Amino acid sequence: MAAPQHFSTRYLSAPDVIALVQRKGVEPCLRGIADYIHADFLRWGAFDKSARVASHSRDGVIELMPIADDQTYAFKYVNGHPKNTRWGLPTVMAFGVLADVATGAPLLLSELTLTTALRTAAMSAVAARALARPGSRTMALIGNGAQSEFQALAFHHLLGITTLRLFDTDPAATAKLQANLQGTGLRTVACSSTAEAVRGADIVTTVTADKTNATILTPDLLAPGMHINAVGGDCPGKTELHADVLRQAQVFVEYAPQTRIEGDIQQLPPDFAVTELWEVLAGQHGGRASDTAATVFDSVGFALEDFSALRFLRDAAAELDMGQPIELIPELSDPKNLFGLLRTRSPLLCVVA
Ligand code: NAD
Repeated sequence: MAAPQHFSTRYLSAPDVIALVQRKGVEPCLRGIADYIHADFLRWGAFDKSARVASHSRDGVIELMPIADDQTYAFKYVNGHPKNTRWGLPTVMAFGVLADVATGAPLLLSELTLTTALRTAAMSAVAARALARPGSRTMALIGNGAQSEFQALAFHHLLGITTLRLFDTDPAATAKLQANLQGTGLRTVACSSTAEAVRGADIVTTVTADKTNATILTPDLLAPGMHINAVGGDCPGKTELHADVLRQAQVFVEYAPQTRIEGDIQQLPPDFAVTELWEVLAGQHGGRASDTAATVFDSVGFALEDFSALRFLRDAAAELDMGQPIELIPELSDPKNLFGLLRTRSPLLCVVA
């Protein structure tokens, strides 16, 4: 991605991304982002990777997630505040940037709240395609908030899930999810507990939000061959799985140095054996050991997935000619004369006579 001498940053607002997803369709966006993620995970060695930088506070966390290859740099700003929904705000809000490594020029500034839900679901589906038993048709979906429709649709379209067994401590969230999934071809069954929801499930997705060491899934609920897509445990002190679930399963992660801090495996010793997913995708690890083994994808959200999602948005916006150029960086006729900008009259200065 070469930056021209005078470049403009393309801005994709939240309404732009909503319109982009509506024009392309949710399924093609999920498939497209999953393809970009898969392709980027196969280039694992090409990236300068680090665990995200987190600022913790009593009720939440604000994180910066940087990553780069030799051409493109990306970062995401994202928060996680489970109590936000009480004040009418989403638990997760995000935006991000793609920049040109050669010059440092920021080329795309985009909303990433809706996009994070799409990319998290696409990532979950990429992992489950590699790890779940082929022929999985029923998924339990525990936690029916903002991310849940995206998880449901990604597993429907990319894995062939046809039945969802739902549970949330807030029945209104389950009702909202069922209403939003009408007409998608997915059969939904509202359950009154996690134990009831996981009964007969091939895959269990946990996507709850609570800043605590929760035990949504306990070992007695594991069935042979189950794949667990654990999405909501993504911060120190915020987990969803009983530690024995992890001990009894094969555990797969995005980027181990980050997941050991933030994932469900934070409950286990630092040398607990895990496999990074890219190894399975690249054929360097066999993945699921048998049809009866339990597998866990201990998802926390890694910067590479946002890099992929931003690339997808950039390409889709160019294809559909969406977004606006913004002057994020001042244009200089003499790049050494930054002060000179202040000596010309700003068009925004209006003098009231
Ligand atoms: P949300 O607040 O919109 O929804 C969470 C839902 O979980 C709520 O409906 C709540 O009632 C329910 N819940 C809480 N405790 C529960 C319990 N014990 N049993 C059943 N349901 C319970 O949040 P969201 O935006 O949907 O995000 C869900 C989680 O996913 C958050 O923890 C968020 O941090 C995490 N997340 C992870 C990734 C990732 O890449 N791994 C990405 C985005 C979000």
